[in-house]
Amino acid sequence: MAQPPYLHPGTELLHGGVERTPYGETSEAIFPTSGFVYDSAAQAEATFVGTEDHYQYTRFGNPTVTALERRLARIEGAEACRATATGMAAVHASMLCHLRAGDHVVASRALFGSCHWIVSTLLPRLGISHEFVDAGDQAGWQRALSRPTRVVLLETPSNPMLEIVDLGLVSALAHQAGAIVIVDNVFATPLLQRPLELGADVVVYSATKHMDGQGRVLGGAVLGERTWVEEELQPYLRNTGPTLSPFNAWVLLKGLETMGVRVEAACRRAAEIADFLAAHPAVARVWYPSRSDHPQHALAMRQMSAGGTLVTFELWGGKAASFRFLDALRLIVISNNLGDARSMVTHPATTTHMRIGAGERARLGIGDGVVRLSVGLEDMRDLTADLGRALEAAAEPKQAAE
Ligand SMILES: *Cc1c(COP(=O)(O)O)cnc(C)c1O
Repeated sequence: MAQPPYLHPGTELLHGGVERTPYGETSEAIFPTSGFVYDSAAQAEATFVGTEDHYQYTRFGNPTVTALERRLARIEGAEACRATATGMAAVHASMLCHLRAGDHVVASRALFGSCHWIVSTLLPRLGISHEFVDAGDQAGWQRALSRPTRVVLLETPSNPMLEIVDLGLVSALAHQAGAIVIVDNVFATPLLQRPLELGADVVVYSATKHMDGQGRVLGGAVLGERTWVEEELQPYLRNTGPTLSPFNAWVLLKGLETMGVRVEAACRRAAEIADFLAAHPAVARVWYPSRSDHPQHALAMRQMSAGGTLVTFELWGGKAASFRFLDALRLIVISNNLGDARSMVTHPATTTHMRIGAGERARLGIGDGVVRLSVGLEDMRDLTADLGRALEAAAEPKQAAE
């Protein structure tokens, strides 16, 4: 089927993948059905043989999920996409469909907790070895990728320290080592960073984050070349079953319609907030990719068109000051989620990165005073007032309960 040429991502967010029913609905239809019926035994046979294109069963495919997959492929500029029930299903399937016992994986050290668990705990059980590399350690990537490797998994910017991996360099090294490069592009979104254009082979998303962006559903997606998606990924997904529900696919289609304006507005606020925090005496340090004091600022700005929706900063006074800060916020909510329309704050050392232990946290630079802020869409005046009040509380512990 001939597809019209891809339009700009901002347009594909709204129009990509639409296939209207004969009723001519404006908003995409939902098909909440587990299965599909055939006109005849011959049609059922032809469908199973593959000579006729007909939906069979929602674990294999569903029109609402297909609409989402087509839209995501067009936004990313990828040949093909498969949607999954969660971001972790996307990460897990993209790796496991490609790996065999005896293979070797190289991954960035700063990975989302469950991604780290898959590499460090699950893969060894399956006879797959691994090595972690610090995001910005170019010699480390070179050394690790001097041996045959099947998969490179990385996240950039990383959670929560917003470290940047050089996608072009690592992709070139990975390809020499025989590996495919899987990029978890959750923090940047397809609007700020285009890993496939920089040399990566596969992009994975937690659609739970900016794509829904309104705290409603879980979802995930894997994007890459058509042959890889159809021949390696598709059989794995069909037979293991991490299927996205049609309802959740529909919610995500609605989320994508506004993702462009949401991400743009949140990035604008995040950049202003990063500067506001950096100027405050209670703040020891700010990490934000588009600020010139980010350790990899030049690389970040080569790869990303804006700094993103997350700001990480360190308060003087460690855990006690951080807890005073979080507890003094009245508008910004405490949540380990991110990419939401509501601003959210988390203390990584005691939540998302508690389990990795103090040694690994120190190695990643996640101090007890580090706070991660996911910037939402509230009025800037209210956000800075809330942050300002909480920073005062962080700096000056109350002596007595009031
Ligand atoms: C949230 C997240 C995931 C996992 O996605 P779920 O939808 O929660 O399964 C993976 N990677 C990153 C970077 C994330 O932020």
